Amino acid sequence: MPASTNNITEISELGFSDNITSINVFPLSYSKSNYEAVMIYNSVVPRQESYSILEFCKLISLVICSLVLQNTRDKYIDALLRLKNSVMKLLIQPRDPNSIYDSIIDAAAELLNAEKASLMLLEADNLRIKAVRGINKWLVQDIRIKMGECIAGKVLQEGKTLHVKEVKKELPYIKPKSHYKTGSFVCMPLKFGSETIGILNITDKAAGEEFTEMDLNLLNHLASNISMVLKMSNYCWLAEQMKELSITDHLTGLFNRRYLQERFSEEIYRSERHNLTFSLEMFDIDNFKLFNDTEGHIAGDDILKGIASVASKSLRINDIIARFGGEEFVIIMPQTDKEKKEAFGVAERIRKNIKEFFAHKWEKFPHPYITVSIGIASFPDDGTSINELIESADKALYRAKSMGKDRIVIYKD
Ligand code: GH3
Ligand code: MG
Ligand code: MG
Repeated sequence: MPASTNNITEISELGFSDNITSINVFPLSYSKSNYEAVMIYNSVVPRQESYSILEFCKLISLVICSLVLQNTRDKYIDALLRLKNSVMKLLIQPRDPNSIYDSIIDAAAELLNAEKASLMLLEADNLRIKAVRGINKWLVQDIRIKMGECIAGKVLQEGKTLHVKEVKKELPYIKPKSHYKTGSFVCMPLKFGSETIGILNITDKAAGEEFTEMDLNLLNHLASNISMVLKMSNYCWLAEQMKELSITDHLTGLFNRRYLQERFSEEIYRSERHNLTFSLEMFDIDNFKLFNDTEGHIAGDDILKGIASVASKSLRINDIIARFGGEEFVIIMPQTDKEKKEAFGVAERIRKNIKEFFAHKWEKFPHPYITVSIGIASFPDDGTSINELIESADKALYRAKSMGKDRIVIYKD
């Protein structure tokens, strides 16, 4: 309701200067938490005009309300777009969830005009800080919060949002922290179904005011989208990891035999269709049993890793190398010439690079070098199926071994 006074003492107590002799106040009531008003000074407002001004104020309230809603809607759409972009990034680059965490924190902070925000995710029963805004990341990155510990841990335990308007009044037992500008904050659980997967902390509204019910509502809507994005990111990452585990050899990091088989079938299909040739190289470490027996199995594993790395670096860009068995490797070389000149060139590079890479004195292994023997076969001349080609390359490799090792043999009938 409007109010008025011309009591000089009252006016001065309200903090107005001496030249204010009367005040008429007309409230603008566009939201429960905003207390704004039109003030008319030093004028006598007749009762009839007072009604008109009040009606006018209601109209202004409606306009402001609609502007605020429009602004809020725009910001909410902005926040959703940010999340959508982060999902796109996720689909392109599922191995890097950090950019998603950053987008999430930016979307939430900007939606509520907050200067500080952090995103915590539950990892092995601890909350870990994954992204921050307005806070020094290096200071908080190692923090681990257990269920029930601190404010975030309690929110995690109860699964209910904590909305504090004035920390001193509502949580007097908390020590005031000088780096926070205001005493109002929101600590919201991020839920997926009944499971809480993380916590969103939003502090310090840019204009210094407290967080409102409207802020809370907006954040609530955004939070369900955030939870979905986080879950999705997790699934994408797991799927990527499983895919990688299923196609790579854990010791050398090269493709495994199962994946080789797949690529082999594809290459045969492609070469048949376009009338192309491709080569297959099989190589095996010379005297490796003796190496293991003399230098030990762990040193043997290091040799396998080293050979995998040297051989990979010696390939052409579209060659595929896989660990075929214990100390045997296979390379598929698409579109190599029928005379196998190119394939021979790559094989020679591998043989030489490996020999040079490991040229040093071993404690007990009697040979000065680690060497490999290589057999080469080609599609379609030396075989038209996977098994035939492997058999031909293996025969050539066997011949290389029997001719004294550390050499390359091209398959001939
Ligand atoms: P050749 O010169 O004729 O190839 O003889 P070789 O001793 O290399 O061949 P052989 O097939 O007798 O032995 C292969 C050895 O490779 C036996 C095995 O201990 C070793 N080996 C296979 N897989 C691994 C592995 O994952 N790690 C280690 N350290 N050794 C392995
Ligand atoms: Mg062998
Ligand atoms: Mg061997």
